[in-house]
Amino acid sequence: MAEKKVKKDKGPAFEIKDVTISASTAQMLEKARRDGVETAFDRAASMKACPIGSESACCKICFMGPCRLNAKDPYSKVGVCGATIDTVQARNFARFVVGGCAAHTDHGMGMLDLFREVIHGHVKEYEIKDVRKLEQVARSVGIETDGKNVQQIAEELYKQLEVTYTQVEGEIPFASRVPEKTLETWRKLNFVPRGAMREIMESMHRTHMGVDQEYENIAQQFSRTALSDGWGGSMVATEISDILYGTPRPIAVETDMGVLKEDHVNIIVHGHEPNMFESMLVSCNNPILIQAAKDAGAKGINLGGMCCSGAEMMSRHGVPHCGPLHVHRGCHCNRCSGCHGRGCAVYQTGAGRSGQMLQHPHIHHQLPRQNRRGRACAV
Ligand code: SF4
Repeated sequence: MAEKKVKKDKGPAFEIKDVTISASTAQMLEKARRDGVETAFDRAASMKACPIGSESACCKICFMGPCRLNAKDPYSKVGVCGATIDTVQARNFARFVVGGCAAHTDHGMGMLDLFREVIHGHVKEYEIKDVRKLEQVARSVGIETDGKNVQQIAEELYKQLEVTYTQVEGEIPFASRVPEKTLETWRKLNFVPRGAMREIMESMHRTHMGVDQEYENIAQQFSRTALSDGWGGSMVATEISDILYGTPRPIAVETDMGVLKEDHVNIIVHGHEPNMFESMLVSCNNPILIQAAKDAGAKGINLGGMCCSGAEMMSRHGVPHCGPLHVHRGCHCNRCSGCHGRGCAVYQTGAGRSGQMLQHPHIHHQLPRQNRRGRACAV
């Protein structure tokens, strides 16, 4: 998409040193500024956050609203339907979780679709590369592998993993991997997800106008939904990627902006669709495309990665990572669902996940800090 030009007479809207600790990112932002290219940082600096929205005190779930409550005087009024600010905030947060969870679940389902088509012989460009991993994953969900061939194991595994999405009752298959004590706690709290589709559907239903007004119930449901992503869609995607493309191993690679080559056609792939990246890798080695790059005056094609799929390609194939690694997974604001909104901030506070926790002023649950349009996105 074409970048819009920054109006030059306004002067810098933010200090670059305030938005990044990365020298290479700072260099790129300086260049963007010199060239008059607007970035997300310019837009964030010039966008005054909506005071009601940033407190999550607005509800627009139905057309009797939007209802505007006051986080500074939280219990002075309720929405037209009677929803308190606790209910409104819990519902708003639940729908962030649903958005992120749906994104990852659908991605995981895409990987599972590919797996099915590969094992049924409809897609021939991919194959099961890591048989050991296939057997490990199968055993982890209770499939007996002794005496079975790869095709049998793969078919049984496909059927079992499909349940991750479609199951309406019972525990999600990868619950079998949850540490015993943790699983015990989840069971006690009724947090163990059933199938991702069921949890997403129930979350949307429960947070609709006039359905569940109790923030505790809503918090329980968004917690279960969050876990159906972390222990469902995203785990399926990871495992299927390893089975089809090979399990990553420690590897030495170049990283950061220096991987770009002045005399090559540079292609940077980012996102969370490893299928496309794997195909790009093949395409970039296609003699016809290499010749086309040469005909255009370049020495060749230089493929680089960024973000999730970039990290996968880096660890699987040694594709250079075009960005400082501390920026990888930098976005945890939950507003864009880019962090998959699966409540990782609620449950996984370790390195690489959001450690930014906020004691919510009203609903008394820890919620991820909303970074106001990803202002902290580039570290
Ligand atoms: S669901 Fe309730 S609080 Fe929300 S907009 Fe409708 S009436 Fe207002």
